[in-house]
Amino acid sequence: ARGAPSDYLAGLNPEQRQAVETTEGPLLVLAGAGTGKTRVLTTRIAHILATGRARPFEILAVTFTNKAAREMKERIAGFVGGNVEGMAWLGTFHSICVKILRKHAELVGLKSSFSILDTDDQIRLIKQIIQAEGLDDKRWTARAFAGILDGWKNRALGPEDIAEGEARAFANGKGRKLYREYQERLSILNAADFGDLLLHVITLFKKHPDVLKDYQRRFRYMLVDEYQDTNVAQYLWLRLLAQGNPNVCCVGDDDQSIYGWRGAEVDNILRFEHDFKGATVIRLERNYRSTSHILAAASHLISFNEGRLGKTLFTDFSEPDHDLVSVASVWDSEEEARTIGEEIEALQTKGHSLNEMAVLVRASFQMRSFEDRFVTLGLNYRVIGGPRFYERLEIRDAMAYFRCVVQPSDDLAFERIVNTPKRGLGEATIKLVHGVARAERIPLMQAASQLIDTEELKPKPRNALKNVLDNFDRWRRQLEQMKHTELAEIILDESGYTEMWRQDRSAEAPGRLDNLKELIRSMDEFESMTGFLEHISLVMDRDSADATDAVSIMTLHSAKGLEFDTVFLPGWEEGLFPHQRSLDESGRAGLEEERRLAYVGITRAKKRAKIYFASNRRIHGQWQSSLPSRFLDELPVDHVEIAEPSTSYGGYGGGGYGPSRFDSHDPFDTGSYSTPGWKRAQRARSSEGFSEGGRGYQSARMKRQGPLTIEGELVAKS
Ligand code: ATP
Ligand code: MG
Repeated sequence: ARGAPSDYLAGLNPEQRQAVETTEGPLLVLAGAGTGKTRVLTTRIAHILATGRARPFEILAVTFTNKAAREMKERIAGFVGGNVEGMAWLGTFHSICVKILRKHAELVGLKSSFSILDTDDQIRLIKQIIQAEGLDDKRWTARAFAGILDGWKNRALGPEDIAEGEARAFANGKGRKLYREYQERLSILNAADFGDLLLHVITLFKKHPDVLKDYQRRFRYMLVDEYQDTNVAQYLWLRLLAQGNPNVCCVGDDDQSIYGWRGAEVDNILRFEHDFKGATVIRLERNYRSTSHILAAASHLISFNEGRLGKTLFTDFSEPDHDLVSVASVWDSEEEARTIGEEIEALQTKGHSLNEMAVLVRASFQMRSFEDRFVTLGLNYRVIGGPRFYERLEIRDAMAYFRCVVQPSDDLAFERIVNTPKRGLGEATIKLVHGVARAERIPLMQAASQLIDTEELKPKPRNALKNVLDNFDRWRRQLEQMKHTELAEIILDESGYTEMWRQDRSAEAPGRLDNLKELIRSMDEFESMTGFLEHISLVMDRDSADATDAVSIMTLHSAKGLEFDTVFLPGWEEGLFPHQRSLDESGRAGLEEERRLAYVGITRAKKRAKIYFASNRRIHGQWQSSLPSRFLDELPVDHVEIAEPSTSYGGYGGGGYGPSRFDSHDPFDTGSYSTPGWKRAQRARSSEGFSEGGRGYQSARMKRQGPLTIEGELVAKS
């Protein structure tokens, strides 16, 4: 039943209500995590609809993921009780742009049936263009150029807009020419790549003011969630629409800008007031999500960043029995998975729902040990924002190689990798192999080896095929002679598979290489390659994705905007988190983005945030000690406890766990990862009224006063 128009407003605080009701003119809601930004956005749409300011199809609402769009639609339906199916323009930037582009494709040189290129197609096309240009495509790889293209498109740069220096950076000054040709080819193919979706709409709007005007009139109200992670192209797109219609509402948090590596520009949020004339800025300061301990930990941590606007955040969600944020030291990633698995089971026994628990990792390779452990325990889990570890493209490819070595008649595996990486074994060749296999009723690999002795194949594919088969013969012999993990590495190297990803300049490539390393590392726990493959088939056989109650596993990046009662945060070690690559590539800025990621992670928790670090990582069978993340030193001691290991998996030491218990885990007792920060912190805890000088962070006061106010930096530093 349709509620009274103001029902949806009930429960909002005055600032939230103002943000909902200030419908006319540009509005920026700049506020920290859990302050109700998304809720404001949703309520605002409900309000606009309920008060008849616009009809569903006249509202443009942008979310960061498709999932978030679906959820928002459901909530709005809940508020206004009515039909929200008409909300045709609620989606991600990309989905909205596809819709616009289908309508006006001819105006940008496409037909409305245009296809959207996937990465593989894109790489193939770029490679053709590089070759046609007479360039060495080993020196100037398609994958490298795809990465560069992506960067240009994120910044809304067409071939003519690229700075001279940048255009020169690829293939001795051919960058611009390649870009131009690539776009021409796309147009002939009636295709667009992902970046084009936005760029074409921008071009459309610029070249056809009448079309732009149409949309400006249509979208009476525009709303953008997670505004801190928009890139330049998205920003320009929005600006164009807002020129004719100032009712733009953006909500975001500069402290949660975590996609800089993918071209997001936090500057967009910083200059909103300047670019959208007459903008109202509303700050929300009450956090409704987390306990005071969690909020204090997150606020304190993020205060170590310099480039931020600074915000006040407070909560009165504070009870004496609330859990402190816990930090636990574990031996290695296996123990980490065991510990977290046990804690989940313990919570479950007490009646907590698995849906309210999440494991948030920094890098996807970390998921492997949790998935394995949860399968062993029979705990339902789902992986959000990406495939499960063993379902990842690179893992499936690698496994296909291993399967072909162990089981030469595994046709599916052979088909998968016979031309991955590309070896010039096209469809025609594969067809011939299939023909022989069918006629002789033999496996593909056997058929292939018969074929190479005939004249049926042209020399080039024949050599390529022979090479593949020789490789497999050799690896099969080596299987008897060397350790399976060593061989696995050799296979991925000699097949050119690892190299393929090394050459890849896409943002995902380094993660894929890490996953491959993790795969090999995980094989170490098995006696043989066969044993390992058996284990995988068991893991893969189990599908808990549809389970109604399941623990979520995801990266910190995909956790944005979500919330859970209990959040497990493993792998807080230097090099992993903050991630070394981020530090190497972007220095101080990289570190600050990592810290924002930590802030996002902690603030996903409503009641319990549990942090872990492993003292050791086993890499290629060798122990390597690791340092606790510097972010641990940046947590406020008053809100953090060092967790004691539960007795069931313990067995080391006994009692006396202070900060020094971190040291007691060192197998070689080198003391190389003692934790000076924590010792400092512990001392500070015992001294009176610990406060970080000048940071405006006053934990002593927090203890005395209620409601608790956690003050971050009030003054804009940037
Ligand atoms: P993030 O920055 O993480 O995206 P957010 O600012 O978008 O957070 P929301 O997800 O909208 O915050 O809200 C956080 C939680 O607080 C949600 O569970 C939401 O329902 C709740 N909440 C927000 N405002 C209120 C309110 N006025 N009264 C009660 N609960 C609220
Ligand atoms: Mg949100």
